[in-house]
Amino acid sequence: MSIETARGIGDEAAAAMDKEVEALMKRASARIAAEVSTLDTDALGRIKPTAANIQHINAILDRVSATLFDDKYVEAVTRYLNGLTRVSGTVSTALKSLGADDALLSVIARRAKVGAATQLLSTSSYRDLLGSVSAQLINGIVTSADASAVSLGLTEAVDASGIDRAVKSQIDSAPAAMQRAQTAAASEQAGIVFYRFQGRPIATTRPWCLAREGKVWHVEEIREWGREAAAGKGWDGMIEGTNEQTIFTYLGGWYGDRAACRHVLVPVLPSRVSPEDMARMRAKGLVD
Ligand SMILES: [Zn+2]
Repeated sequence: MSIETARGIGDEAAAAMDKEVEALMKRASARIAAEVSTLDTDALGRIKPTAANIQHINAILDRVSATLFDDKYVEAVTRYLNGLTRVSGTVSTALKSLGADDALLSVIARRAKVGAATQLLSTSSYRDLLGSVSAQLINGIVTSADASAVSLGLTEAVDASGIDRAVKSQIDSAPAAMQRAQTAAASEQAGIVFYRFQGRPIATTRPWCLAREGKVWHVEEIREWGREAAAGKGWDGMIEGTNEQTIFTYLGGWYGDRAACRHVLVPVLPSRVSPEDMARMRAKGLVD
């Protein structure tokens, strides 16, 4: 079991959760589209442009919110959280040799899980979806559109929708972020100064990460990346608020759809640092 294994488990949990959100949208679209039939229509099946219909939108949105999460989705969230538990267990095993404090690692894991659960099970994370449903209904009412056409439009819109983009990025990043926080905490306790910047190259690996990948870095070099970010010399995709402390958990950051930074810092012993990396650190006066 290694830090590397943990990252793989975390990646899989995040990818599976993304798929489950897509599946939820497919299941929800028919239910949401059927709500159009609760609006008043004329003899030709056109939605009447009335105040009552406009006011009825709120009742529809309330019902959509109340029924959005079905059992399958709740089970998927549970699997995702179990994935975080497995990541944490793997990290804790890997860091045992550093003398990592299990209680501290557990608290970090619990915080990550509570945060992810809150986001995944809150309809406020689906604000874009609900906003799109509302907009389509209003548009259908004021233009007296054909009810079946509005229903079809809703189905398509919901199918293509999902959890809000910013939340999705955080859910994608959560396993790696939790793992980084645990590693940083354990290393801090153990006085570790060398870290390998590790991760599988993916199609969307950002240049900032690529330049660091595979090399061993001194804790002071990593802090310097954070200080540069805080001073406005950041990089594409960095998380707002990156500084010499948060760099250890934010690392490369996140952006776009599937491009959350999944790199991790792996603590390494001095004997495992390559001569080139050691020479670079020596040139900076960080090692003797
Ligand atoms: Zn990265």
